[in-house]
Amino acid sequence: MSFVGDDMQRRSRDRNPIKPMTLGNIRSLGVVSLDAICEETLCGHAGQINVSVLPDGFPVIDVALRLRCSRYGSKSVSTRPNWLEYRASGTPNGLRN
Ligand SMILES: [Zn+2]
Repeated sequence: MSFVGDDMQRRSRDRNPIKPMTLGNIRSLGVVSLDAICEETLCGHAGQINVSVLPDGFPVIDVALRLRCSRYGSKSVSTRPNWLEYRASGTPNGLRN
């Protein structure tokens, strides 16, 4: 997966009353990268994207608009937070049970 230029089409989200999850939201949970998945049926290429170059206010779903599959060049890429990096704030180390 790699970033492409600014020629992408913007998704219209004006009618969506729910504020999209932003990179700032997931960073506050300890997540600093995204899983990117190619949606081409015959590909399914997936990778992790470091989004440290993007601002806190950047919506997670819009990162996908900047990605292109490095295998087939497809722009049908979806992104989701890499929850493996999730750290619940205030959670002590060790098991409770
Ligand atoms: Zn692909």
